[in-house]
Amino acid sequence: RIINPIEGPKVTQDLSENVILTTVDDLYNWARLSSLWPLLFGTACCFIEFAALIGSRFDFDRFGLIPRSSPRQADLIITAGTITMKMGPQLVRLYEQMPEPKYVIAMGACTITGGMFSVDSPTAVRGVDKLIPVDVYLPGCPPRPEAIIDAIIKLRKKIANDSMQERSLIKQTHRFYSTTHN
Ligand code: SF4
Repeated sequence: RIINPIEGPKVTQDLSENVILTTVDDLYNWARLSSLWPLLFGTACCFIEFAALIGSRFDFDRFGLIPRSSPRQADLIITAGTITMKMGPQLVRLYEQMPEPKYVIAMGACTITGGMFSVDSPTAVRGVDKLIPVDVYLPGCPPRPEAIIDAIIKLRKKIANDSMQERSLIKQTHRFYSTTHN
């Protein structure tokens, strides 16, 4: 290695052909995006489309996604269906039980805005992002399995550019917001 006091360290020609350089962030992100484990969480009709995605036709596993029944083993939650006021605290508890780093895909109009229940229902939450931070919004009523795959590809791209430091700051802000506004 040649170290120039002004320009910093340089890799020689021979070394650059034999050594792969990366950052801890890149390596960490590659590992995470290649093995997302989603929690099985469905509250209404959107989950039927998610269940179809798990079947052999769409080959969900090729993305390294393995559905889990325990939040302790999951790092992704796809909120499939209407979130009611009664269900809200359970969703937050499940989210808090998932280990970091963790991600959220808000699936369907009901989850994102309250959908058709947003007009006069006293029980529907008008947006799951009022309860937990959302990484990807997936609109539709219901979104088809191909659209869920598209959302997962978008999430993988987002994870590829993630910074561990920035993400931990966002999480701290969300925790502060949750504890002071709930
Ligand atoms: Fe059902 Fe449509 Fe709401 Fe999904 S968005 S839970 S399909 S009504």
